[in-house]
Amino acid sequence: MVKILVSSCLLGCAVRYNGSAVEVHSADFNWLLETQDIVALCPEISVGLPIPRVPAEILGGDGVAVLSGSAQILGSDKSDLSDKFVLGAELALRLCKEQDIQYAVLTENSPSCGSQYIYDGNFSGIKKKGSGVVAAILMQSGIRVFSQYAASELRRLISIVR
Ligand code: SF4
Repeated sequence: MVKILVSSCLLGCAVRYNGSAVEVHSADFNWLLETQDIVALCPEISVGLPIPRVPAEILGGDGVAVLSGSAQILGSDKSDLSDKFVLGAELALRLCKEQDIQYAVLTENSPSCGSQYIYDGNFSGIKKKGSGVVAAILMQSGIRVFSQYAASELRRLISIVR
């Protein structure tokens, strides 16, 4: 059994900006939940952001760029949320270090949790390749991050290493 950090909104918690959860229809994801040691976290809630809250997107880059200070996370009301989101990412990394977590399944497309795709910063519904700040900081530390759509990859990996 391995510890896996999982975005709370994938676990039925209604913590997204609009007060919803994310439905996952994946036998491999369910297998992970039933057989592994799951640690739930919503990085945005962990830093005190409310439900509901304004939607946010990364402007001028991706999570890596936000961490280096060359891109910003803005709310749809133009508020600069970069510091809050980066703090949430740092808290997620600290949790992983404290609990020796090497794997994460995080919600795709989120400016925090997205690992392969994020929105393009224009609130137009268009996605681009890139990661959110949480996925970026975890990957920079060697933690393997998967989206909910790639649960089968993590299942395969766990089955090989154990
Ligand atoms: S995607 Fe991540 S930050 Fe957004 S609601 Fe889900 S757990 Fe929270």
